[in-house]
Amino acid sequence: MTTASAQAPSPQQVHDVVVLGAGVSGIYQIKRLTDLGLNAVVLEADDDLGGTWYRNRYPGARFDSESVTYGYSFSRELLDEWHWKERYSGQPENLRYLNFVANKFNLRRFMRFNTRVEAMRWDETGRCWRLSIIGGDEVVTRFVICAVGPLSIPTPPRIEGMDDFRGEAYHTYYWPKEDVKLEGRRVGVIGTGATGIQVIGAIADKVGELTVFQRRPNWCAPLNNSEISDEEMAGIRKRYDEIFATCKITPGGFEHVPDRRGFWNVTREERVALWDSLYGQPGFAIWLQNFTEIFTDEKANAEFSAYIADRIRQRVHDPVVAEKLIPRDHGFGVQRLPMETNYLEAYNRSNVHLVDISETPIQRITETGIETTDAHYELDLIVYATGFDAITGGFDRIDIQGVDGARLADKWKDGPSTYLGTMVNGYPNLVMIAGPQSGSASTNFPRAIETHVDWITDLVTYCLDHDISRFEASPEAEAMWNQHVRDMYQTLLMRNAKGWMTGYNSNLPGHEEGTRRYIVYNGGAPKYTRTLNDVAANGYRGIVLA
Ligand code: NAP
Repeated sequence: MTTASAQAPSPQQVHDVVVLGAGVSGIYQIKRLTDLGLNAVVLEADDDLGGTWYRNRYPGARFDSESVTYGYSFSRELLDEWHWKERYSGQPENLRYLNFVANKFNLRRFMRFNTRVEAMRWDETGRCWRLSIIGGDEVVTRFVICAVGPLSIPTPPRIEGMDDFRGEAYHTYYWPKEDVKLEGRRVGVIGTGATGIQVIGAIADKVGELTVFQRRPNWCAPLNNSEISDEEMAGIRKRYDEIFATCKITPGGFEHVPDRRGFWNVTREERVALWDSLYGQPGFAIWLQNFTEIFTDEKANAEFSAYIADRIRQRVHDPVVAEKLIPRDHGFGVQRLPMETNYLEAYNRSNVHLVDISETPIQRITETGIETTDAHYELDLIVYATGFDAITGGFDRIDIQGVDGARLADKWKDGPSTYLGTMVNGYPNLVMIAGPQSGSASTNFPRAIETHVDWITDLVTYCLDHDISRFEASPEAEAMWNQHVRDMYQTLLMRNAKGWMTGYNSNLPGHEEGTRRYIVYNGGAPKYTRTLNDVAANGYRGIVLA
């Protein structure tokens, strides 16, 4: 196999491949590349590895994919050596797992921490990327693999007076490593997405007073987490092949297989029997083992949403609060489903208060709390669970200049455009793991990551073996994929949803109500994998190899 190009100016800083980000994607990617003997390095802005699981240390942070389907599947030894302790493992354990993987395969030696790439420029003459690191360094590389994470740029709200607050305040993504005192304190949480719902359930019985500032309620369902005993883990180890084989053929990349009897082919009683059973099952069963019509058929979705609304009414004692927790502007499961533990029951506690800020909006943050149009809430701690500049945020943060200096951020101003969610016309030799318009964020994330990493590794190897110094998505292939991704949205009720999966975030400039960005591929994991494999098998169709 051929390695690094000879044209680059400074041999010490030249690599075959640079991987940006040492999270779940970057860890596996660097393993594959260095196993092949390539000169590859991971550049990571943080001071350690782990990405999502290094950062999100907020109380209640845990998987909502099953631990066993979230873990890597690439190494039998790894599967045999690791013992998952909970069906849905918490953040500290998840970070330990990623460190275990990195240490087992001795991957840290290929990682540079505290290394934030602020700009990268394509050098057509040298057929390489030139990366500028904050602090002055330049790194030259033939290929760049972006593993920057789809939810790695948090978006705090823009509320007057935020800097005036004299208590503690954190966006959940930046929750400190040190213990944050909760006992006896007056805590305010803004945001009721998957993160806020985890935080609220976890801290309600620990804090003095908890005030939740809810703009829009979200549908959610019980996680039904439990411990995994030694015997169970031994059984899981025996079933690993079967588990991962199932993940490969289900749309979500999970073990959950959709019910394909047909919503309208069974009686109402049969539907309710299924839902009663799914509500008690762990994880996304209620979402992904359901009738597929709930994603596409308004009437089917409305019937199921009404079922879940009744569950909320049963679990929340105060009927006024219960009604406030039932979403009215979207149906169940058309946005990413948050999974909850003790969330609804938290509102039955006398120390937990729900403030509906769609009725009484927040006016400002003061030195001592939050002021709405209706009241002032005295607080010691504010938790911003207000989400992320999803999918494209990690790219926008780097000044990426491709052919003729064209900026990727300009090209993606009104939404991303990619080929297969892996590459972009005008940006040669740059590949993305879990990039915009890929099948990653809409499916079980690590399963999709392994697919991506394997495909990208094959592409890089193919280029090196065939003396290909430049690859780039053709404009026609990119336009076709972009249209395909858009068309896919139109088949789903998700098209009407207002959240990060439709590319909307009220905290970002330029995002108006009604903004739609087509940022994820919704065709399901098997179809996505088939498409990638088919492209590779046909000489990388749609990619210009030079
Ligand atoms: P999110 O789903 O975008 O939710 C943000 C919440 O903050 C929403 O309730 C939003 O209200 C509210 N909000 C935002 N800006 C606000 C403002 N200025 N004023 C008042 N409220 C505001 O973000 P997230 O909860 O962090 O979840 C993002 C994604 O992360 C999830 O969908 C999931 O994919 C991932 N996640 C995964 C896990 C896991 O795997 N275990 C856990 C947590 C998160 P509106 O709805 O009105 O905009």
